[in-house]
Amino acid sequence: MTDSNETAQVESADELYDITIIGGGPVGLFGAFYAGLRQLKTKIIDSLPELGGQLNALYPEKYIFDMPGFPKILARDLANQMIEQGTRFSPAICLDEKVLQLVTEEDGTFTLTTNIATHRTKTVVIATGAGAFSPTKLANESLDTFEGNGVYYFVKDKAKFQDKHLLIIGGGDSALDWAMNLEEVAGSVTLIHRRDVFRAHEESVDWLLNRSQVNVRLWNELKEVRGEGRLEVATILHSKTKEEETLPVDAVLLNLGFKADIGPLREWGLELHGSKKVVVNHLMETSIEGVYAAGDIAHYDGKLDLIATGVGEICLAVNRVKIRIDPKAKLFPGHSSNLSL
Ligand SMILES: Cc1cc2nc3c(=O)[nH]c(=O)nc-3n(C[C@H](O)[C@H](O)[C@H](O)COP(=O)(O)OP(=O)(O)OC[C@H]3O[C@@H](n4cnc5c(N)ncnc54)[C@H](O)[C@@H]3O)c2cc1C
Repeated sequence: MTDSNETAQVESADELYDITIIGGGPVGLFGAFYAGLRQLKTKIIDSLPELGGQLNALYPEKYIFDMPGFPKILARDLANQMIEQGTRFSPAICLDEKVLQLVTEEDGTFTLTTNIATHRTKTVVIATGAGAFSPTKLANESLDTFEGNGVYYFVKDKAKFQDKHLLIIGGGDSALDWAMNLEEVAGSVTLIHRRDVFRAHEESVDWLLNRSQVNVRLWNELKEVRGEGRLEVATILHSKTKEEETLPVDAVLLNLGFKADIGPLREWGLELHGSKKVVVNHLMETSIEGVYAAGDIAHYDGKLDLIATGVGEICLAVNRVKIRIDPKAKLFPGHSSNLSL
């Protein structure tokens, strides 16, 4: 979990990139590193406001035991290391952007259309994993009114919560982590959870219930938020007693998990395996020339959905991109240990 993406760069929409990687999960990040190493003008686009893919979105607090060189590493720590490595050569990073459309132009380049911009690129590597992640939202119209202005699904800047009366909604690792992170910054933190059992690390639950100043309300749900021009109060409802309580609240942070949507990719004209995977050959080429796929989204006979295999696949894909763009270049990138970076 990062509270801001310091490496993000603003891209010029018309610039033609050598390679655009759709997906900033572990596989896309490793691809960005290799693309930089091969001096390709690189862009990463992800639908989430932070990099890291499933590692940060789905299981930041779980240990991973099958990473070469790491006998045991927290998913979040691996994500942070991969972000550092993936941004080493300063790729353009476009976050909070979901790629909706891929069009092959007459000159063989591609235009990618997202929910907010268009991007031009000579080649595309699809590293979209399980699909575009977006935060799970509550069906509550009062929240929509204040979204981005009092109601948040991510923390990009902790300073935004300085001295605020903060209401956190959720009972998983992410909710507890942010309660822990923001307790010292916010004026007060209340956490509501609709059950009495948390889906979080034992140590975090112990801190929350026994050692923190967080006002914890179990069996509570949000009824509504209100305010004149800015968020001022939240009404919560005890699901068993049906008692309502109105709290002074300046900010609400919802941590209710993520849902993945592979949707738009099905319309791009790619050969698919079933409804959720893109078919690639042994060079990671898809059925569209100049478009490659790697990681969980890619399918071939014998495929395994693991980080170790995905990073190998994108290494192959990016080096193919290099010789596609510069036919005089060598396919083999050389050994990184020979470089002085
Ligand atoms: C609970 C759990 C535990 C796991 N444990 C392990 C383990 O121990 N070891 C292991 O090797 N693997 C493990 N995995 C699997 C591993 O996390 C995946 O193999 C890996 O994350 C795949 O990486 P990826 O980059 O291909 O995709 P992802 O991590 O899914 O990242 C894809 C990114 O692409 C973005 N995206 C998708 N579509 C679009 C779009 N249209 N526009 C813009 N962005 C888009 C998504 O938002 C996402 O950020 C685990 C998975 C889970 C769920």
